[in-house]
Amino acid sequence: MYIVMLSAECAPVAKAGGLGDFVHGLARALLARGHQVEVVLPRYDCLVTESLLESGPGLADLWVPFYQQWIHCEVTRALVEDIPCWLIAPHSPQQWFERGRIYGEPDDPERFAFFCRAALEFLQQTQRQPDILQCNDWQTGLIPVLLFEIYQGLGLTRPRVCYTLHNLGYQGITDESVLRQVGLDPQRLMTPDRLADPKHPQAVNLMKGGLVFANQITTVSPRYAWEVQHTEQGLGLQETLRRQPTKFRGVLNGIDFAAWNPATDPWIPSRYEAATLPAKAANKSALRARLGLAEGNKPLLCLISRLDRQKGVALIEHTLRFGLAGGSQVVLLGSAQDPQLEAHFQRLRRELGAHPDGHLELRYDERLAHGLYAAADLIVVPSVYEPCGLTQMIAMRYGAVPVVRRVGGLADTVFDANYSDQPFEERNGYVFDDLTGEALESALGRALGLWFEYPEYFRQLRLNGMRQDHSWNRPAEQYLALFEAMRADPGVGEGSPGDGTRGRIPDGAAPP
Ligand code: ADP
Repeated sequence: MYIVMLSAECAPVAKAGGLGDFVHGLARALLARGHQVEVVLPRYDCLVTESLLESGPGLADLWVPFYQQWIHCEVTRALVEDIPCWLIAPHSPQQWFERGRIYGEPDDPERFAFFCRAALEFLQQTQRQPDILQCNDWQTGLIPVLLFEIYQGLGLTRPRVCYTLHNLGYQGITDESVLRQVGLDPQRLMTPDRLADPKHPQAVNLMKGGLVFANQITTVSPRYAWEVQHTEQGLGLQETLRRQPTKFRGVLNGIDFAAWNPATDPWIPSRYEAATLPAKAANKSALRARLGLAEGNKPLLCLISRLDRQKGVALIEHTLRFGLAGGSQVVLLGSAQDPQLEAHFQRLRRELGAHPDGHLELRYDERLAHGLYAAADLIVVPSVYEPCGLTQMIAMRYGAVPVVRRVGGLADTVFDANYSDQPFEERNGYVFDDLTGEALESALGRALGLWFEYPEYFRQLRLNGMRQDHSWNRPAEQYLALFEAMRADPGVGEGSPGDGTRGRIPDGAAPP
């Protein structure tokens, strides 16, 4: 099968979060199964070039219509590890992708709307006919809309679109003028059943465009798929999603089992696997020495997280205080974007000082994260919402027992040692429901009690987690089955206006 993935991120060259890991992990797993896969990305000036092998021009002159002008782009062919990529660089006066970062610019909707148009223009001009276009989050929400409204009429008739939701917290809600800029007709599209935002009907919702026009919608865990349809977590898109019951499903993400492997991890002092689990203890000692923590018979509790409201910052702080009061050691590795949260955690760090049992490291540090997973006895993930969550899966791979809130992908992957209906071999952690200190304490208290009182049973929980297969193997097979079913389905585009009319390319001058 020929699959083109379109995304704002692909790890490790362009990564702001889990989306980058998803594209990287799924692309490699599909390639490993013999499929033809290409990733299309903006050519950011901040690409991490160590893992990027550029291999010459893909298309030196790509002219892309944008409002009343044509924008000249260059497309470069590149390899990201073994993944073939196309990098699109527009030579626009606004320097859309020369901002030193991937997101967070006031004109993000315009930047990524242009990217959608440019990516389809590239496919059409190079006469590619992929079987599947796999699109991600609001940044590529206009791909299925443009395909149906414009590019199918220009001959791009083969692709079916799979649109994947990673986080409904960001929907690309903006002024409808962005539609006109990329050659779409706002009058036709700004209706409640198409792209009008449910809460602000004058605004366009780019994610909703993806949902309405794609052939298949996925999200990153089955539980999150349910939550966004039936709870406030749909953030206004519940009804749109409920109207698509046959084309929406959750597929649990995988983690990169090669990068996250305690048996081969070059960044940890003592390597181990299930059969050599006692070797894990040396990592705890090494971390204690490195961070100035005391030696002693205490469990090590770690939190590795963006410090964002989504991640349950109040409960992160509560974990620190409760852990220290209950005779544990606690380490937080966290990075905050929000200056207020940053200042708050900096205060906490100062308050803690050179505590023998507590340490806060307020930055993003991949290498230290590996050291923490290897050293930790328990990893706490108290998220408000969590579409999938990688932290708990990495923790289990490293024999650290997760303590999590029962939301999204956390609920799909962590099964409570005491209260789960899973068989004993599947139980791997501790789970709580309410977003309160008491609920967290009840789960964490049980976990700490087990560590102190029943070490053999605690070891068994570690091993149960380590045995679980959260590699990309299963998700890749599930995506392939979906893609096969989409190929067999003749349905095209939106669920569907059927009036035969489509948008049109704007009346600008012909490309130079
Ligand atoms: P999200 O994508 O919402 O941040 P996920 O659980 O999907 O959450 O992914 C988090 C990933 O980022 C994990 O691999 C985790 O180890 C890593 N991570 C989070 N914060 C930090 C940090 N401060 N330093 C290093 N790695 C971090």
